[in-house]
Amino acid sequence: MKASRINGHAESLPRLPFWTATFVTMVCIAILALSGWREWATREADLKNAEIDMVNLARSLTQHAEDTIELADAVLFGLASRLEANGTGPAAIATVQNVLDLRKPTLGRIRGLFVYDETGRWLATTEKVDFSGLNNSDRAYFQHHRAVDDRRIHLGPPVQSRVGGQWIITVSRRLDHPDGAFAGVVLATIDAGYFSQFYRQFDLGPNGAITLLSADGILLARSVDNGTYVGRDMSATPLIRDRMSRPAASVYYFKSPLDGLQRLSSFRFSERYPLLVLATEAQDDVLVRWRQTAMVRTAFVLALTLVIGVIGLYLVRQLYERQRMAAALIAKEADFRLLAEASSDMVTRIDFDERILYASPSSASVLGWDPTQLVGTPALAGVNPEDLPRVAQVVAALKRGEVEEARIIYRTRHREKTEIWIETTLRVTRSDSGTINGVVAISRDMTEHKDLEDKLAALATLDGLTGLANRRCFDERLEQEWARASREGTALSVLMIDIDHFKKFNDRYGHPAGDGCLRAVAAVLAAQTRRPGDLASRYGGEEFALLLPGTDAEGCEVVGMRFCDALRDIQIPHGSNPPSGLVTASLGGATVWPNSNATTDCASLVGAADRALYSAKDGGRDRMVMSGRVLPWPRARSA
Ligand code: GH3
Ligand code: MG
Ligand code: MG
Repeated sequence: MKASRINGHAESLPRLPFWTATFVTMVCIAILALSGWREWATREADLKNAEIDMVNLARSLTQHAEDTIELADAVLFGLASRLEANGTGPAAIATVQNVLDLRKPTLGRIRGLFVYDETGRWLATTEKVDFSGLNNSDRAYFQHHRAVDDRRIHLGPPVQSRVGGQWIITVSRRLDHPDGAFAGVVLATIDAGYFSQFYRQFDLGPNGAITLLSADGILLARSVDNGTYVGRDMSATPLIRDRMSRPAASVYYFKSPLDGLQRLSSFRFSERYPLLVLATEAQDDVLVRWRQTAMVRTAFVLALTLVIGVIGLYLVRQLYERQRMAAALIAKEADFRLLAEASSDMVTRIDFDERILYASPSSASVLGWDPTQLVGTPALAGVNPEDLPRVAQVVAALKRGEVEEARIIYRTRHREKTEIWIETTLRVTRSDSGTINGVVAISRDMTEHKDLEDKLAALATLDGLTGLANRRCFDERLEQEWARASREGTALSVLMIDIDHFKKFNDRYGHPAGDGCLRAVAAVLAAQTRRPGDLASRYGGEEFALLLPGTDAEGCEVVGMRFCDALRDIQIPHGSNPPSGLVTASLGGATVWPNSNATTDCASLVGAADRALYSAKDGGRDRMVMSGRVLPWPRARSA
């Protein structure tokens, strides 16, 4: 159940980075889309404004062209009226010439005024030229007026001036005789350059142009003119060709056949005169400022998006990495729990403050406490006070990093039993950064093992027959007591005891009886070892040795006498041991002050006691000899 929950959680992990990445992508797309939409709207607004400007420009320039033609018309009308009223006789012409001369300085945009008779001959002009031989009957406007009886103004195609050679626009009227016959033409000329110059004052960008055309498509003037435009017939262009199907004024986009540029154009046909004004501007020029600012803004937005994207990518990677690590940790934790929970050993995790973070279910069988009762408690709480310093020392060494692993055996409290022996293997745990953050402890109950060990140890030191310490134990204790006596400068005595004629006892009563006798003597001896340091041992065969630490020669004598008395008191019969007929023993005692003679060792002490024993045997048995002197025996008996 728990494992499936962990797995389920791990499977749901990759969703978060995915949604974060999606969110960051959406934000980036939204920023780019908003920015693009805004730029497009700005572009559209700029174009719209440019269209309005172009429409207004076309309207006012048409008005200007109309005004110019109207001015010429007014002048021509006055001139024609005067000529038709006064005729073209020399006096009338002289007057007209006079008027023209007077009028010339105030003509403004009209370059020149001309009067021709019905043959095309020049009659009067504002130009300072000798026109006596000049004839304009070949001009199209002249032929038009001569052919058509129309008193309205005629706007002719541009012609190159006979006088200056420059392109001029002609505005002319027919002169009639009183009978209505053709009498000539009055003509006003306007420099195409006047319009060009005027149009150049308007800034339509490097590729913009303003063009004045006659209604039938002859180009009259252009703001930008390399000398090839004026007079060109544009009647084949869609603007003129489809004129009837178009409104009188409009704005439109087209690709210029002249330079291939996409252009924004506005045209307007005059309602009063057969002419139109066409203003065009390259779309690129209209949008140049928008393009510059849009590029800066777009660069900024792209940089911003890039930054968001990079940060987003970094975050997503971090998230993914963390989730991967978290999943690995969860899996590791699950493995750890699986192992810990399946083990009969108690597994605990202990933090740096020595508190239990986790305890496996086996804690219930090992310590008698449920894991939940242990978590949060001090790990060393139940340790036996005698073992605590040793355990604490090991734990401190682990925490300091001096050792990675340690094994300790100590006593600890059990919930139900009094105390148990625990064997614990400790191993340090480290955080990701490598610092020690606690230990994992694996503990098992060692009580039975320890008891067995104690029993074996005891068996190794005891004599099987008598239950006294054995020879090996005696030798070890002797060495220890010798060292202690040397250190502390105290006396140390050894009493060697040998049963008299024991061989004969065996022979007489049998071996099992001999064993029983040995056990009885051992019991007597054990009863004499009253001080905690005293050690009664079976030295070998029917020989016993008594170790008496802190006992001088006199004390040794007292103990030996007491033993003899006690042995006699139990009265074990021994018919082959005259004269008493009881089991008796001979004793040899020796005492040293180890400090007093540095050359001696513990073997020499036993040797001395042994020699004293032989003296006792030699002296007739059933007596005690202290090394260096023979004791009168039996003192107690005589006492
Ligand atoms: P002495 O008075 O000179 O000491 O004579 P003894 O016969 O006691 O001395 P000896 O060393 O000649 O004999 C010791 C005997 O003790 C020999 C052996 O049969 C007997 N003995 C040694 N160990 C045991 C034992 O464990 N059980 C029995 N029943 N007899 C033993
Ligand atoms: Mg013996
Ligand atoms: Mg003997």
